[in-house]
Amino acid sequence: MSSIHHVVIIGGGFGGLDAARALAHAPVRVTLIDRHNYHLFQPLLYQVATAALSPGDIASPIRWILRKQKNVEVLLAEARAIDVANRRITLDRGELTYDFLIVASGAAHSYFGHSEWAPRAPGLKTLDDALEIRRQVLLAYEAAERVDDPAERSRLLTFVIVGGGPTGVELAGALAEIARQSLSQDFRRIDPKSARILLLEGGPHILGTFPEVLRHKARGALERLGVEVRTNAIVTGIDEAGVKVGGESIAAQTVLWAAGIAASPVARSLGVPLDRAGRVTPEPTLAVPGHPELFVVGDLCAFVQDGKPLPGVAQVAMQQGAHAARNIARKLAGEPMQPFRYRDYGTMATIGRGSAVGDVYGIKISGFFGWLFWIFLHIFWLIGFRNRIVVMTEWAWSYITFQRRVRLITGGRLWPT
Ligand SMILES: Cc1cc2nc3c(=O)[nH]c(=O)nc-3n(C[C@H](O)[C@H](O)[C@H](O)COP(=O)(O)OP(=O)(O)OC[C@H]3O[C@@H](n4cnc5c(N)ncnc54)[C@H](O)[C@@H]3O)c2cc1C
Repeated sequence: MSSIHHVVIIGGGFGGLDAARALAHAPVRVTLIDRHNYHLFQPLLYQVATAALSPGDIASPIRWILRKQKNVEVLLAEARAIDVANRRITLDRGELTYDFLIVASGAAHSYFGHSEWAPRAPGLKTLDDALEIRRQVLLAYEAAERVDDPAERSRLLTFVIVGGGPTGVELAGALAEIARQSLSQDFRRIDPKSARILLLEGGPHILGTFPEVLRHKARGALERLGVEVRTNAIVTGIDEAGVKVGGESIAAQTVLWAAGIAASPVARSLGVPLDRAGRVTPEPTLAVPGHPELFVVGDLCAFVQDGKPLPGVAQVAMQQGAHAARNIARKLAGEPMQPFRYRDYGTMATIGRGSAVGDVYGIKISGFFGWLFWIFLHIFWLIGFRNRIVVMTEWAWSYITFQRRVRLITGGRLWPT
């Protein structure tokens, strides 16, 4: 058994990957475990859900990404529990011990105590979610083509998105684009342009974390695409018929959930207090209080800076992952660990084809220029040269032709048999 220190990283998302990379020259051996064998570029998930991109365009094998970093071993495994006292992780099969642990297992959906809504209103977090959303959306149009009853047809052509954050806004814009452009000529009995797309936000604004001017621009851009935006609309029920908002029932076949997230459940086994979203609040160094060998980063980490919680975005996860890794290297070198400080480069959201809003380095951008900048950023951050070329080509093609690459293909049955 080697005496070299063993660092385990749970999660090969944005935080875990940057933690592993930052340990490239540290005197440690690293094991990165993930329950998937790929790193997923979540910011483009909605493009898979709405048939603009294929799953392989936004995912890369973790082994391949880290192939040149000889001190890293990648394991396909699920962490079930962490025994902090004995520095031991229970996996789906077997166990793993560690000297240092970075937990970067991200977040899942939260239905605010209504887990019964989950099967009826899929959220968007994984590739499976994206393909399920794509399936439900496309089958709704196919089913509408086959019914004669106008009320049923209208229910089938009503799409409700719950949650007006960036994911909900991007999904609503893309669904409107599918209805008004991509599918507009493909059916004979229905007019896809008549589809009703509703974006329901419980708070007073969509894109609540964006500056006010951009929130207004985003709302205007969505409404021009034909999306009905409703704010202060708190969903009180989701069932087979559709959605209930206060006393109103909205008949809808397709309901998509973009409202809440909860930290990965593995955090519960750490035996430390969790916030309402199940996240761990670390020391300023990102170490868990009382455990200088254990770090939390990314969506699982509740970090307050200048009195405000940091948002659950990729840049926070990446910077935290690298910082936790550097603190491990500092500790091994006998140096004090440093507090984390997030450098905010900005935030963006795209709205359909050709429009986006963003606050980048304090500069507010919107419209077509914002969209071009959004494209540039996403291609820049995507992992893998092939993916960058494919995504750039797909976007250029769909921009010129209005077509979606995968031509809206899906499997699945229209009605249960
Ligand atoms: C649809 C969508 C759009 C988004 N758009 C943007 C955007 O435009 N810009 C932006 O900055 N951010 C965006 N985000 C947020 C961003 O993706 C997250 O903040 C970021 O992924 C968090 O990184 P992380 O490393 O904490 O977790 P993740 O990237 O989620 O990685 C967690 C990893 O841990 C693995 N894992 C989880 N549990 C276990 C376990 N028990 N055992 C083993 N492995 C496990 C998962 O498979 C996953 O690979 C978006 C998120 C979503 C869902």
